[in-house]
Amino acid sequence: MHQENYFFSSQKFSCYFNTDFSYLEKLVSKEDTVIITDENIVASHANKFNGWKIIVIKPGEQNKQQATIDYIINELINIKADRGTFIVGVGGGVVTDVAGFVASIYMRGVKFAFVPTTILAMVDASIGGKNGIDVGIYKNLVGAVKQPEFLLFDYSFLETLPQDQWINGFAEIIKHACIKDENLFACLENNPLDFFQSSIESIHELVKKNVDIKCNIVSNDEFETGERKLLNFGHTLGHAIENIYELPHGSAISIGMVAACNISAEINNFPTTDIARVTRLLRAYHLPVELHYNDDRVWEVLLMDKKRSGNTMNFVLLNKIGEAIVTPIPLTKLRQLVKNTTS
Ligand code: ADP
Ligand code: ZN
Repeated sequence: MHQENYFFSSQKFSCYFNTDFSYLEKLVSKEDTVIITDENIVASHANKFNGWKIIVIKPGEQNKQQATIDYIINELINIKADRGTFIVGVGGGVVTDVAGFVASIYMRGVKFAFVPTTILAMVDASIGGKNGIDVGIYKNLVGAVKQPEFLLFDYSFLETLPQDQWINGFAEIIKHACIKDENLFACLENNPLDFFQSSIESIHELVKKNVDIKCNIVSNDEFETGERKLLNFGHTLGHAIENIYELPHGSAISIGMVAACNISAEINNFPTTDIARVTRLLRAYHLPVELHYNDDRVWEVLLMDKKRSGNTMNFVLLNKIGEAIVTPIPLTKLRQLVKNTTS
């Protein structure tokens, strides 16, 4: 086990890396804890949950909505959960979002922690304190910002993670490399996905590196006034096509990152040789790099993006691999670029 403490505002939270799930008993009282997880995780890891109070939700993004919150609150009432109850979300990004949101509102807030079980949740969704649900087509429209007490990483959960979920999570890892860490980018270029899938030590190193990157960015800018915006690299166009074409998040931001690289070359002198490097790496990790999208529809959705301010859109561009900046792009110019990057 390897414990590390991170600080957000004045609040500390701990990461227990490479730690067996059973260690949870040392961190919280079994009596006062309720685990929230989903059906797939229980089906694959039932033995881990022996003796714990557990609320099981239906898997998938389509269940990241108010009806699930109502269901959990009713279950918490049945269990007689009170202000001293501790909630632990065990799952992917859907479970951590839902569990963190419920914990933020139940009895005006109870303590909570996460055991992320997907790559995406380990390196991204469980970190940063943003928890929420979707409302219709609007992703993460309702939510709360509250940090978990701790994260516990038990890599044995990954033994049952489907291949498409591995690929999905690596899109965010490649994003971190693009915006912050050229060495990480080179490390990914030198190793295929199955290298990380076949060794606990290598996945541990990689997860830890990515937790460090995200925690650093978030602790420097908890309220997203500056540096944290860089995490949106690939996500502006990505979110638009994710919604319109119902793509997996990783696929959508992969295509979004390639588009952002092209725009970076156009207005920021990002070298075309580096566009090729990013594209090659995404391909090597089985991610899509192009989509024949309808640019009129994409434009309509882009205009609703939270990153728009008046007549400009704050867009994350790369200077080079490992270094990103936020640049306001006039909407008229962006409209042209969105058309041109249609491939
Ligand atoms: P994300 O982390 O991508 O936001 P979700 O919470 O939607 O993820 O999880 C993706 C899918 O993978 C869901 O169907 C979920 O039940 C399933 N899942 C999550 N973790 C595991 C795991 N360790 N083993 C098997 N399936 C898992
Ligand atoms: Zn993302």
